[in-house]
Amino acid sequence: MATITRGWRYADSTTDEDDSTLLADGIEIGGAYWCGSDSIRDGERWASFGPAGLSMGHPTREAAEDVQVRVYAADPQRWAAEYTAYAVQRGAELTAAAELTAAAELAATRATEANLQRRGLVDEPGPTVWTLPAYHVLYAPQEETAAVAAWLDANGIDGLSAIHDARLEQRADRLALVCERLRPTGDMEACALAVTTPPPALTVGPRPDLEPVFAEHWPSRFPLIDYDASLACGACTRAAGSRTAVIAWPCNPVATAISAELVTT
Ligand SMILES: [Zn+2]
Repeated sequence: MATITRGWRYADSTTDEDDSTLLADGIEIGGAYWCGSDSIRDGERWASFGPAGLSMGHPTREAAEDVQVRVYAADPQRWAAEYTAYAVQRGAELTAAAELTAAAELAATRATEANLQRRGLVDEPGPTVWTLPAYHVLYAPQEETAAVAAWLDANGIDGLSAIHDARLEQRADRLALVCERLRPTGDMEACALAVTTPPPALTVGPRPDLEPVFAEHWPSRFPLIDYDASLACGACTRAAGSRTAVIAWPCNPVATAISAELVTT
């Protein structure tokens, strides 16, 4: 006699009313399910199928399964042979269907590529037409960073890394912002995002000289006070040792570094 076990019909099953399978030595011989129909009375909502055919009107999943198991147990050799043959046939059908689907997907991909190539629309890298320098948000005039923020917003781009350059490329059929972006998982991903409106003009260029300053001083928001728009320097505020004595961003060291470079260039 085979070992009879129960499995879930679907991998994400979680409730006591989900569909189950009935297995004999791992080979599926049937299953049980709960009937929600208005025409079925409470207490008779479980049904099963398998060696006994379709069997309805059972009070519990176990009762519905028992009907199938009893018929199976009366002639285990017959049912084992029958369901094994069925499983082999079904496996072959599934394999054939998967192969057909893969072939169809490959053909569709090739057709799309050929179509794009014919129209000259292959999404290859293009010339850089605009660059948002790394750390720009920390040293540029407020009007300028607001304009960049509004532009990103209008194009549905969020989570952009401030510590990497973001380049706007003119590609065959579109503008693409090539950038690093924070994923929900917390790590950065390199991506090319479609952009549909022209970027704002920038008046200040890259400032690699400020990177050591930003490594020490960083802007932060304080959850206890509404600093929705205004920022504080985390390092200087922590050094001041008080939550109420907030050192506004840019703090003196940062402001000095920013203006020093502006004077010398
Ligand atoms: Zn500071």
